[in-house]
Amino acid sequence: MAKLTPMMQQYMDLKQKYNDCILFYRLGDFYEMFFEDAIKVSKELEITLTGRQCGMEEKAPMCGVPHHASEGYIDRLIKKGYKVAICEQVEDANVAKGIVKRDVVRIVTPGTNVNPQSLEEDKNNYILCICEQNLLYGISVADITTGDFFTTQVTDSKNVLDEVMKFSPSEIIFYGKDNEIISDIKDRLVLTINELEDWYVDKYSCEDKIKTHFGVKVLEGLGLGDMPQGVIASGALLQYLYETQKNSLSHLTNIIPYQTAEFMMLDSSTRRNLELVETLREKERKGSLIWVLDKTKTAMGARLLRTWIEQPLVSKEAITHRLETVNELKDSPMVREELRELLHPVYDLERLMGRISYGTANPRDLIAFKKSLEMLPHIKNVLDSTNTPLAKKLFNQLDELQDVCQLIDRSIIDEPPVSTKDGNVIKENFNEEVDTLRKATTEGKQWLAELESKEKQATGIKSLKIKFNKVFGYYIEVTKSYLDMVPDNYIRKQTMTNAERYITEELKVMEETILGAQDKVIVLEHNLFNEIRENIGKEVKRIKQTAKIIATIDVLSSLAFVAERNGYTKPELNTEGYLDIKDGRHPVVEKMIDSDLFIANDTKLDEEDNRVAIITGPNMAGKSTYMRQVAQIVLMAQIGSFVPASSANISIVDRIFTRVGASDDLASGQSTFMVEMTEVANILRNATKNSLLILDEIGRGTSTFDGLSIAWSVVEYISDNEKIGAKTLFATHYHELTELEGKIDGVNNYCIAVKENGDDIIFLRKIIKGGADNSYGIQVAKLAGVPDDVIERAKELVDELSEADITKHVDVTEMLDKKSLKEDTQNSIEESTKQVKKEDDIMLQLNLFDSQDDNEVIKELESMNVIEMTPMEAMNKLFELQKMVNKK
Ligand code: ATP
Repeated sequence: MAKLTPMMQQYMDLKQKYNDCILFYRLGDFYEMFFEDAIKVSKELEITLTGRQCGMEEKAPMCGVPHHASEGYIDRLIKKGYKVAICEQVEDANVAKGIVKRDVVRIVTPGTNVNPQSLEEDKNNYILCICEQNLLYGISVADITTGDFFTTQVTDSKNVLDEVMKFSPSEIIFYGKDNEIISDIKDRLVLTINELEDWYVDKYSCEDKIKTHFGVKVLEGLGLGDMPQGVIASGALLQYLYETQKNSLSHLTNIIPYQTAEFMMLDSSTRRNLELVETLREKERKGSLIWVLDKTKTAMGARLLRTWIEQPLVSKEAITHRLETVNELKDSPMVREELRELLHPVYDLERLMGRISYGTANPRDLIAFKKSLEMLPHIKNVLDSTNTPLAKKLFNQLDELQDVCQLIDRSIIDEPPVSTKDGNVIKENFNEEVDTLRKATTEGKQWLAELESKEKQATGIKSLKIKFNKVFGYYIEVTKSYLDMVPDNYIRKQTMTNAERYITEELKVMEETILGAQDKVIVLEHNLFNEIRENIGKEVKRIKQTAKIIATIDVLSSLAFVAERNGYTKPELNTEGYLDIKDGRHPVVEKMIDSDLFIANDTKLDEEDNRVAIITGPNMAGKSTYMRQVAQIVLMAQIGSFVPASSANISIVDRIFTRVGASDDLASGQSTFMVEMTEVANILRNATKNSLLILDEIGRGTSTFDGLSIAWSVVEYISDNEKIGAKTLFATHYHELTELEGKIDGVNNYCIAVKENGDDIIFLRKIIKGGADNSYGIQVAKLAGVPDDVIERAKELVDELSEADITKHVDVTEMLDKKSLKEDTQNSIEESTKQVKKEDDIMLQLNLFDSQDDNEVIKELESMNVIEMTPMEAMNKLFELQKMVNKK
C-alpha cells in the first residue's frame, strides 16, 4: 500500500492535532496548505490550487502563500472566522537528521491577532470569555496587544450582554448551558464564538493557572477572593491564550476585577441609540459622541477615552476628580497646549510594549519607543504645575523610565533598519566585540596595508606584498631574490616560479577577524538586540503603568480642549435626584448643523414634581434630539467631561435606558413591536428611581387604542414612586397622554414649539410647557417632498376623518374613570389646560401666533406701532389682546 512521504506524514500529524485550524505549513519561503485546507483556502483567498506528490497515488491538493506576505492572507482568513495555526521549522535544517522538525508556534484567532496592520489604533482588540455554571456568569476579557485584563461575574444573562456590548470583543470563548445568550450575541454581533471543553473550567486548574501566571500564593491578593466564577472565566481565558500564543504572556501583568455596579449600566440598545462610538444607521464614527469628544493625541489616549465613554462612572468622588482636572486644564491653556504638544510624538507605548514582550518588536519600534520615552520628563515637568488631586497623583506616579530610554539610546543606532538580518543596529561603543568586528570589516584593508609595511620594514624585503586568493585566503608573497631574508616565523604555503607564498600567525588572526567579521557581527548584533529587548521587557509593569498615565493625561487634556473649543461648562453633580440643565445642546447635532443655528433648551427633572416629562410636538420638531441631548449630557458629565449647556446640575444616575425609534434588531427575527415591548419590559423591570429613562413613542407599533393604553400605563408605572419613580422624558404622538398632567403626581407636559405659516410650518425647536395640539404630519410630509397630489388628497381625508371623528372611541374621560382617579376628570382636564395657559407666558405667546383663530390678534399686533406708544397705551393694548385670547 502506498505510504505518505515523511514530510506529508509530519503534516498529517500536526493537522490532526490542530484540526480546528487552517494549518500554515512552512516550506522554504512559503506557507503551504494541503488537502481540505488547500481547497478551502484557495477558494476563500482566490489563490491557485495545485498539487504535490505525497506518496499516495494522487497528488495532494496544495496552495501556498509567500512567507513575507503571509500577514495579509492570515488577516483575511481570520476576518472570515477561521483560526490559523502557524507551523514553522523548529530546528536548524543544517543539523537536522532526516526531515526537519516542525511545530505550531502560534495560533491566530480574531481575538489574538497581534498584526499591527489589522488592528485599529483607537480600539482595543478584546477577546472575551464567558463561563456559566449554575446560572452564575463569569466574564473575563483581555487585549493581548496592550496587556489589559479584566474580570467580573454577574447573575443576570442580560448583564452578560451588556458587558459584551461594552467591550465589543472580536472573539468570544464560551462555556455553559445557556445557549440563549450565545444565540442572542450571534444575532447582534458578527464575531467568532468558540465553545470551550469541560476541562477548561476545572476550578483547581483555573486557580492554579492564575496563581502561577501572576506569581501569587492566594487569589485574594489579586482581589479575586469574592469572585469565584470570575476566576473560572479568567483561568479558562488564560489557558486558551497560552495554547494559542505559546509564549509567556508576560505583559499580562495584572488582572483587574470589577463590579458592574461601579459603572453606569447601559444596555445594548441604549449604547446604540445614544450613538456613543458609532452612528445608529451607518455605523460610522462621524456623528457619534466619540467623534466630538476625541481630540486625543495618542492611540493610548484614544482607546482610553473610548473606554471612559463605554463605561461612565457612578462615584461622585471619582467623577469630581476627573472634572476638577479637566477644569484646571481648561483654565490653563498654556499647560494644556504644552502637554498636548508633548503628547503628540508619543507612540503607542502599550502596543509597542506588547510587541516587545512578544519578541516581535523590531529596531525601529525601539527607536519609536525611545522617542516616546524622551518626552516623559518634559511631560512630568509641565504636569508639576497642576494642582488637582488627580493631576498630582498622575504626576507622582509618572515613572519617567529614563533608564529604559538611556539603554535604547546607548545601544540602538538612531536610524536603524527594520530588521536585524543585515546588522547595522547596534551603536558604536555599546559592545566592544561589535566595535572590533565592525572595524575589521571596514578597516581590514587598512590593517593589511599597515601589516605589509610593518613586515617590509622588519624584514627589509622591498617586494613583500600581502595578497589574497580563495584557496589560501591572505598570504605574504616574497619574490625569489629576497628568499634569504624571510624570517623564521613565516610559514611557507606555496611555491611559484618567481615567488614563495607564506602565512604568519598574525596574518591568519587578522584574516579570521576580517573574513568572519561580517557574519559574526550580524549574529552578535541580532543577539544583543534580543537581549536589549528582553531587558526592556523586564520593565513591563513600570512601562504599562506609565502608558496608562500618559493615556489618562491625554484624555483629560483632550476633554479640556473640547470643553473650551465647544463652549461647554463644568457640570455640578448631586446625589439628591435633580437634574437641572440650562440652555442644553446636543453635542453632536450642534456640530452637524451650521454653527449658531442650534436652539438650546432647558431641562428640569427631579424626584418630586418633575419626574416625568411628556413631550409632544410634530414630527421633525426635535423631540428625539432633545431627549438624546439630555441623556448625552448626563453621560458626558459622568465620564468627567464638561457639557454643552450654560449650566448643568446633574444627578448621578445608575442607568440610562432608551427606547428610541425602530431598533435595528429586526435581524433577530422579531417584529418591530415585539422588540419594542421587550425593551420596555427590560426597562420596567430594571429601572430604579436613580435611572434616567428616554422613551420615544412607546406603543407606536400597534393599534392606536392598544398603543395608547400601553403608553398610558407605562407612564403611570414609571412615575409611581413606589414602583420606579425614575426621571423620564417621554415623547409621544398620543396627545391624549397630556391629560395625565395634574392627574399623576410628577407628570408634566412639554411641547416643542412650531409656528404656522399659511400651509407650512416653521420649526422653532424650543421646548416649552404645555401640550401640542396638532401633529402637522401633512406639513412635514410636504417638507419631505411627498408629491402634491398625495398631500392634497391627505388633506381632504384629514377633513373627512375629523368630521367623522374616528378617534372618538378613545374616550379619555372613560379611561381616566377606569383608572379611578380621584378628581372629576373632565373638570380637571379643563382645569389643567387653563393652568397651562396661565402658567406659561411662552405658551400663551405661541398660542397667540400659532392658532388660525387668532388672526385677529395677529392683525392687531401687526398694526401696532409700539415705538410710538406710551407705556400706559401699551399696557392697555396688551390687556385687550389677552382678553381676546382668553375668549377663545
Ligand atoms: P420624529 O417625531 O419624526 O422622530 P423628532 O421630533 O424626533 O421627529 P428630531 O429627529 O429630533 O425630530 O429632529 C429633526 C431635525 O431637526 C434634526 O435632525 C436636527 O437637524 C434638527 N433639530 C432638532 N433639534 C434642534 C435644535 N434644538 N436646534 C436646531 N436644530 C434642531
